[in-house]
Amino acid sequence: MPAESTSRPAGFASGTRKPLISANWKMNLNHFEAIQQVQKLSYLVTDDDLEHVEVSIHPPFTDIRSVQTVLESDQIAMALGAQNCHYESSGAFTGEIAPGMLAKLHVGYVIVGHSERRTLFGETDDVVRAKVLAVHAAGMTPIICVGETLEEREAGRTEDRVGSQLGAALEGSSPGDIGGFVVAYEPIWAIGTGRVAGADDAQQVCAHLRGVVADVAGPAAAAQVRIQYGGSVKPDNAAELMARPDIDGALVGGASLDADTFAPIVNFRNRPG
Ligand code: PEP
Repeated sequence: MPAESTSRPAGFASGTRKPLISANWKMNLNHFEAIQQVQKLSYLVTDDDLEHVEVSIHPPFTDIRSVQTVLESDQIAMALGAQNCHYESSGAFTGEIAPGMLAKLHVGYVIVGHSERRTLFGETDDVVRAKVLAVHAAGMTPIICVGETLEEREAGRTEDRVGSQLGAALEGSSPGDIGGFVVAYEPIWAIGTGRVAGADDAQQVCAHLRGVVADVAGPAAAAQVRIQYGGSVKPDNAAELMARPDIDGALVGGASLDADTFAPIVNFRNRPG
């Protein structure tokens, strides 16, 4: 199922972009299980892997303090992440978590606009933009998720859809800041379904997204911004996806829940691409 052709030129240098592999645990693993998984992962991933690949772990909120403690006390060189936050810094928002609360726990990355948040919790492009600004203002890096439905893909609207989501999310951010952001291309039809976008299709959409960043923030930001692919990434397809020039890592859901399946994704460099 090829994506529609793109008119954008590819070819922003990729040499300096360290891949980011992110574990999105969603609403899984309590804090005891979280500690076990992180410790197990630390035994399965080598220093050499972590020199070439950055890893971020995004547990549920209730696990974050425990995971922070393990990462810091065991000196595990992986970043702590969150799956969401509110855009306000405090106030009467029952059940919500402020960006500053996460930053205080040394969270480095926050997933913003995941399709499950957009679809199940009604997050609009305006909410996503407000969260991007708030996460950055609190000193953390947003991982901005964009993705099309199967219907949109089959109608040839993939690039329009993800381009408009990304353009909306970046409004109000400065070009210098945008270069440090992370974008995750996650076709909705590939999330948790076992269906993965072909590496060439994923590359084409990621190149298009890099072009959107160039339009909004200029070529330097486009060359710097990291673009992940997400959607049924597994040990046996990670290397092929990661070999594409505009794919700078992966956002991994199901396969990140067990260190035995996540570690071989982190060390994708040991398999042919
Ligand atoms: C995700 O949750 O962002 C995701 C890509 O999930 P999965 O890897 O399970 O498709």
